[in-house]
Amino acid sequence: MRFPFITPKKKKEYYIDPRGYYRYRNSDRLVHRHIAAKHVVKRRLKFGEVVHHKNGNKLDNRISNLQVMTWSAHNRLHQKQWEKKRKRR
Ligand SMILES: [Zn+2]
Repeated sequence: MRFPFITPKKKKEYYIDPRGYYRYRNSDRLVHRHIAAKHVVKRRLKFGEVVHHKNGNKLDNRISNLQVMTWSAHNRLHQKQWEKKRKRR
């Protein structure tokens, strides 16, 4: 099985958009959403579903690093992270 992971050899097929995500050069689609749909949930992503990068690295599109969540659950998760950061200051 071929996974569209980012390897240096294949870098030409992708570019990094202004938000820091890989996109396919030929379709402008977000690579992590495509991988998550195809290999994590194995169906199309529904409206309102967000693909989260577990380790915080937006460029790490390994299946084990991707988690499909609802928009609100994803927001809650990041809210917690932001609060933690604020407290540390
Ligand atoms: Zn996230």
